[in-house]
Amino acid sequence: MVFNIHNLNPCSRLKLLVALCALSLLGCSRSEETGQCNAAPQVPVRQVVIIGIDGLRADAISPALTPFLFQLAESRGLAWGKIDVSNGRTQHTYSAPGWISVLTTSWASEHGIVDNKSAGPVKVPTVFERVQGRKSDSRSIIITSWRPLYDLVEGRLRALPAMHHAGFFRENDAAIEQEVLTTWQACQPDLAFIHFDAVDKAGHDGSFDPSDSGYASAVRETDSRMRRLWEKAFSAPSAHGEMPQRLIIFASDHGGIGNNHGRYSDAERWAPVLAISPSGYPAVNISRLVDIGQVSLDFVQLEGGRLQ
Ligand SMILES: [Zn+2]
Repeated sequence: MVFNIHNLNPCSRLKLLVALCALSLLGCSRSEETGQCNAAPQVPVRQVVIIGIDGLRADAISPALTPFLFQLAESRGLAWGKIDVSNGRTQHTYSAPGWISVLTTSWASEHGIVDNKSAGPVKVPTVFERVQGRKSDSRSIIITSWRPLYDLVEGRLRALPAMHHAGFFRENDAAIEQEVLTTWQACQPDLAFIHFDAVDKAGHDGSFDPSDSGYASAVRETDSRMRRLWEKAFSAPSAHGEMPQRLIIFASDHGGIGNNHGRYSDAERWAPVLAISPSGYPAVNISRLVDIGQVSLDFVQLEGGRLQ
């Protein structure tokens, strides 16, 4: 029998429509992607991975809460840095302006995303476009579970001709980890931005405070995720055994106070950052949020000269 919605009484019809809408909304909100990341004929000589840990407070980096991330710095003779994501109390400590500053090397006054409700478009080129502009066969990806960030970046890139870029919107950090172990691993893109959101969510659900049990447990879980990804992906060779030189940057976009952020207290505006460069490459200095994208461009484009 062919199902026909018109055979249902009005009440059942309405219920069915609501159920279908909920299902499709859920489907859309949990997983979506733009483009595909097909590996380049040759694995790039240099790769950058920017790992965004949303809402990680600077004082959450410690041997007890983040044993892997703490040790990773120590093992390289480095210390975690702190950056003022508010640019001297001029940019709100929200995620959309913060991550777009990372991905455009510019502050909100230039890129136009002043808070999480800014609809875009992002006014200045992203690092994804700038890498491709310099190296036409490059590959880039973004993986996130936060819809506004996905929409801002993909909205801008969709308007461009033939970008070698793929965007992945996934349900949560576990799904993002899986995407790194499959898509990133197989594709080996020149540039990747991978965004983890569980720590920020725990801050909003409880308190942005390492002494809050929910926040502390999300930080610990994220640290374990970073250890797995480091071992299985970022310090591992490609499927064909190549080992590119990799610059791996860990950064947060803001801290928080109580169960929120957006303003300019020290707990909100100072965010941790760490750049691990390959052996033989000098230590990378990041003192501002907007430096993250720039050092990434400098690194992947070293052979072709520096972008301005
Ligand atoms: Zn938040």
